[in-house]
Amino acid sequence: MWQQKWVIGNWKMNGSNATNRLLLQALLKPVDAAATHVYCGVAVPNVYLAAVSEFAAGTALAVGAEDVSRFAANGAFTGEVNAQMLADVGAWFVLIGHSERRQYFQESNDELLAKLQNSVATGVLPILCVGETLVEREAGQEQQVVSAQLSLLAQLGLKEVVVAYEPVWAIGTGKVPAVAQIKAMHKLIYQQILSLCGEDVKIRVLYGGSVNASNAAEILAVSHVDGALVGGASLQADSFTAIIQAAY
Ligand code: PGA
Repeated sequence: MWQQKWVIGNWKMNGSNATNRLLLQALLKPVDAAATHVYCGVAVPNVYLAAVSEFAAGTALAVGAEDVSRFAANGAFTGEVNAQMLADVGAWFVLIGHSERRQYFQESNDELLAKLQNSVATGVLPILCVGETLVEREAGQEQQVVSAQLSLLAQLGLKEVVVAYEPVWAIGTGKVPAVAQIKAMHKLIYQQILSLCGEDVKIRVLYGGSVNASNAAEILAVSHVDGALVGGASLQADSFTAIIQAAY
């Protein structure tokens, strides 16, 4: 799985039992057909994790969560879902620090660090999402911002790191950075991870933000782009399949 390109869907707060089933029915064949070249996954709302995991059992589709509690142990935390519970219902990975979580839920670095630690301790692979806002990009601060977001990794002692670079201004907007901008940022992220985690760390850096069937091949061909994190286009079987196929 470390040699393959990764194509991960992020369903966000979308879906129903009925539509999830239709989407998965259409996806599982192409996912299995691509399996030697592409590691495919979907991050789904917690309430659907068990059903989606069951539906995808025995196929190559990895199922993951979109967030996790910062609290590790079971207890009096009404509304929370910890990493152990995610693993229990079939989550292999979890998105951490998605910009929508940072923006709407004011997730702090301390909180994100706890989420990363709990996921790692439970064996649920964290995918740390980083990225600058438009204001930060226009002020020329994107490298500084992303480096600061990555610095949490230094405290984890990881030997395998998966990061998704998602410029906030590219998420759901149809705006995609120029190839040169993606290339520069992914190279920087690689360098940062190597210096934070040591030279023997295994690295995957996914690009996310308005990836679709038409631009996926070009983005996935950029150096240090190891895959894609796909929001809107992962809800359409045709688009998501085309993105998977563009990865090999
Ligand atoms: P988008 O979302 O593909 O709809 O831009 C990406 C994401 O938020 O992960």
